[in-house]
Amino acid sequence: MNCRPRVWKLVPLLPIAGLLALFLAAAAPLWAQAVTGPGIPANTPPNRPMSPAAAPQVGGTTVLAQEAQGWLTDLIKINTSNPPGGEEPAAKYVAAVLQKEGLTPEILEIAPGRSAVVARLRSAAMADPSKALLLVAHLDVVPADKSRWTVDPFGGVVKDGYIYGRGTIDDKGMLAANLAAFIALKRSAARLNRDVIFLATADEETSGDASIRVLALKYWDKFAAGFAINEGGNVFMKNGRVQYIGLQVSEKVASNITVIAKGAAGHASQPTKDNAVVHLAAAVNNIGNYTAPVRFTSVVRRYFEGLAPLEDDEIGKWMRSLDTPDRGEHAQRVISDASPLWNAMLRDTIAPTMLNAGSARNVIPGEARANLNVRLLPGDTINTVVSDLEKLVNDPQVRLEVLPNAGLAAPDSSLENDFYATIGRVATREFGGAPTLPFQSTWATDSSQLRLHNVQAYGLVPFPLSDEDLKRMHGDDERIPITSFVKGVDVLTKIVAEFAATR
Ligand SMILES: [Zn+2]
Repeated sequence: MNCRPRVWKLVPLLPIAGLLALFLAAAAPLWAQAVTGPGIPANTPPNRPMSPAAAPQVGGTTVLAQEAQGWLTDLIKINTSNPPGGEEPAAKYVAAVLQKEGLTPEILEIAPGRSAVVARLRSAAMADPSKALLLVAHLDVVPADKSRWTVDPFGGVVKDGYIYGRGTIDDKGMLAANLAAFIALKRSAARLNRDVIFLATADEETSGDASIRVLALKYWDKFAAGFAINEGGNVFMKNGRVQYIGLQVSEKVASNITVIAKGAAGHASQPTKDNAVVHLAAAVNNIGNYTAPVRFTSVVRRYFEGLAPLEDDEIGKWMRSLDTPDRGEHAQRVISDASPLWNAMLRDTIAPTMLNAGSARNVIPGEARANLNVRLLPGDTINTVVSDLEKLVNDPQVRLEVLPNAGLAAPDSSLENDFYATIGRVATREFGGAPTLPFQSTWATDSSQLRLHNVQAYGLVPFPLSDEDLKRMHGDDERIPITSFVKGVDVLTKIVAEFAATR
C-alpha cells in the first residue's frame, strides 16, 4: 500500500509555487497533508509506514481549528433563527470562506432569502456519485429567548473556555468542522478516491418549505452521494471522559396530533359538565400519563448490548435483562426511569406541547385544543398511535387529528460498510479507545431524507460533550468547550481524510 498520493503526473502542468507545495505535500504523510496547507507546517513526524493495525497519526489541525473557531463565532453572529430562518447571509458567508480557498461554491436558492450552499472536491472528471461522500450541516438554528441567557445568544461570546451561542452544538459547530475538514482536504491537494461534497442546508429545524426535502427535489444532482456524515449522534462524556461514541444510523420519526375538545360555549357564571377546557384537560392528562409499549429495533438492541459493560454494575445488569422473558418488564422500567433518552429509544413517545383555549376570562369556550408531538420508532405507524390514544381518552367530545407534513421513516444506514467502519475506527482511536455504538436518535435530522435517497448517512457531532452541555441544545446558554471543539475538528478531519483520500 502506498501512503503517498501519486501527484507526479500533474507536475508538468504546475507553476513553481505549485511544485514547491506539491513537494512539501509529498514529503509529509497523507494524514498530515490532509490537515496542513501551504504556509502551515505539518507538526507530525515525517513519513512513517502505515498498516491497518497501526493506524496513522494525524496532527496539525491546531491552526485549522483556530480558523474554524473564527468561522463558528462569525456564523453565530449571523442570526438564522428559524422561524423565519433567513439563511441566505449565512450561506453567503460560508460561500465566501470556500471561495477564498479557491473553491467554487454554489448558492442554491430554495425560497426567497433561504438558500443552501454546495461545493465539491472532484476525484475524477466523471466520478461515480454512488461513491461520493457528503458533509452535511444546517445553517438555521432554533430561536433563543435572550432574557434567559447569561450572554448574548448571537454574540459569538468566548468565555471561560467555552464558545457560547445559539447553534454552537446544533448545528453551526458541525458546520464549521465540516468546513475545516473540507478545506483541509483541498489544501492538502491529496488525491481523492471519491468526490467529497460540502453541503450546508436550510430549514432543518422546522423541516418546512426550504428544507432538504425541497432542496433535494430541486437540486439533487448537485449533491447526490452514496455516503454522508451529518449531525444526529454524539460523543458522550461521563465523569470527564468519553464514555462512548453514539454513531447515529437511524432516527425516530416526528409527527403531530391535534387534540380537539368541543362543548357548549356559555357564560362562565353557570358552568356545565361539557366544558371543552375540562374535557381537553382530562384527555391531555390521560395521554400525558400514558406509556407506549417497548419495542426493540435492531439498532437499539445493539446499542444497549454495547453500553451495558460501560455502565455501573446495577444499570449494566438491567440493560442485559431488557429483553429477557422473566426480568424484561422490570428491566425496561428501571432503564426508562434512569434516562429520558433511553426511555425514548425503547418506545414511541407522545409529548403534549401546546394548549390553546378561550378568549375571555368570563366565557367558557366552545372548543379547546392541544398539540401532541409524537416520535415514532421507525416502522411504527401514526394511525396505530391514534387508535390507542382514542381508546385511552374514550370521550365522545374529544377527537384527534393527525397534522400533515409528518416525517417519513427511512431505512437504517448499514453497520457493515467501509464508511461506518472508518468512522468507528477513527473515533474509537481518537477518543481514547471508547467504543463506537450504533445509535438511534430520538430526534430527527436531514439524514432521513438522505437515507430515502439511498445515501448511507451517519450522524456524529464530533465534539465530546457532557450531559450538562448536551441539555443546553435548544435550551439556554448553549455552549461548547473550546477543547471539545478543537478535538472534534481534528477527529472529523481525520475521518474524512481516511475515507476519501487515497493512501
Ligand atoms: Zn440540528
